[in-house]
Amino acid sequence: TNPIFTGLPTTIFEVMSRLAVETGAINLGQGFPDVDGPEEIRRAAADALMAGPNQYPSMMGIPELRRAVAESNRRFHGLDVDWQSEVMVTSGATEAICDSILGLVSPGDEVVLIEPLYDCYLPIVRQAGGIPKLVRIAPPTWTIDPDQLAAAFSDRTKAIVINTPMNPAGKVFTEAELQLIADLCQKHDAYVIADEVYEHLVYDGRRHLSPMALPGMRERVVRIGSAGKTFSLTAWKIGYVTAPPHLLAPIAKVHQFVTFTTPPDLQAAVARGLRLGDDYYEGFAAGLAAKRDRLSAGLADLGFEVLPSAGTYFVTTDVGPLGIADDREACLTMTREAGVAAVPVSAFYASDPPTNYIRFCFCKRDEVLDEALERLGRWL
Ligand code: PMP
Ligand code: GLN
Repeated sequence: TNPIFTGLPTTIFEVMSRLAVETGAINLGQGFPDVDGPEEIRRAAADALMAGPNQYPSMMGIPELRRAVAESNRRFHGLDVDWQSEVMVTSGATEAICDSILGLVSPGDEVVLIEPLYDCYLPIVRQAGGIPKLVRIAPPTWTIDPDQLAAAFSDRTKAIVINTPMNPAGKVFTEAELQLIADLCQKHDAYVIADEVYEHLVYDGRRHLSPMALPGMRERVVRIGSAGKTFSLTAWKIGYVTAPPHLLAPIAKVHQFVTFTTPPDLQAAVARGLRLGDDYYEGFAAGLAAKRDRLSAGLADLGFEVLPSAGTYFVTTDVGPLGIADDREACLTMTREAGVAAVPVSAFYASDPPTNYIRFCFCKRDEVLDEALERLGRWL
C-alpha cells in the first residue's frame, strides 16, 4: 500500500457528515447547500439525459461547455481564452486540482502551500514527489506576511497553490497579496494553481480577482472553477480548468487516465448556467451574504467570537463557549450532544495546528440556521 495515503484519516468532511446522519444532527459541517441550484439548469440536464446520447463525450469536455467557460473568463475577468486549447472540463474541481498538481510537479520540485489548506492539496503534492513549503496565515486577520511568503520560494519552486476565496478562512485575497504572489512567481519562474471554486461567493461589494488577470500572469496560472459551488449543485462534480496551452497539455495527460470524461448531460446544463444573467450571480451572492449574517449574529449572541467572512460558504469561530479546548473534540461533542455539526479548523493543517477554531457552513435554509442556533442555545 501507499504510505502517502494509508497514513491519512478519512477526510473530515465525510467524518462529520456521517456523524451528523447517524446522530440526526443539523449538518453545518461539510460545505453543501440544502436547496438545489436553479431549476432551469436541472431541467436542462434532465432533457439532455433523455435526449442522449449518453456515451463518452470528448475527453476535453463538450464544446458547448468549454465555450461557456471561455466566455465566462471574459465576462468576469476580461480574459481572452481560446476554448479549444485553453479549457478542459473535469469531474469536479477536486479532479482538476489533482490533474494540475500531477501534471505540473515533478519529483524534487518545491510547491508552496498556504495553511490552513484544503485537505486534498498536500497528499497529491506528495504523490507527485513534490516538496511542500508551507506558509501559515493566522486568524483572526489571515493576512499574508510578505517576508514569510518570499522565504518559502526558491529556485526549486515549481508552483504555489492558492485558494481564493479561501476555505475555511472566508478570506478573499487582496490585489496586493495576489501581486506579491505574482512577483514571486515571475522572479522564481513558478506557476500558480488557483483554486477559485468560490469565485462567485464573494460578499459586501468585494470582487474576486483571479491571479490570471494580473499583468504577466496569463501564461503562469492554472485557474480552477466548480459548477458545484457556482450553481449549488455540489453532487454534479463538474469542474473546469483554464490554463495556457503549454500548461493545459500536461494536465490533460493526467485527466485522460484519471476520469477521461465527465457526464455530457450535466456539462450541457452547466454551460447554460454559466450563461445566466447578472441577476442570477448577484442574487446568489446577496442571498448567501444574508445567511452569513444571520448565522454570524446568532453565534455571536451565544458568545462565540465570530471571525469575518468575505466569501465562501463558511464562517469560523473560536471554541470558547463550548468549554472544550480541542476543536475536534468540541465538534464531535457538539454534534452528539447539541445536534449541530461543524468542522474543526485543525483539519486544514499538515501538523501542529491551532485547536481553538471551528468552521460553520451557512448555506442552509433560514429555518435550518435558526433551528441550529436554538439547539446550540439550549445546550450551552
Ligand atoms: N476546493 C475547495 C477549496 C473546496 O472547498 C472544494 C469543496 N467542494 C473543492 C475544491 C472541490 O470542489 P468539487 O466538489 O468541484 O470537486
Ligand atoms: N469543500 C467542502 C468543504 O469544505 C467539502 C467537499 C468534500 O467533502 N470533499 O466542506
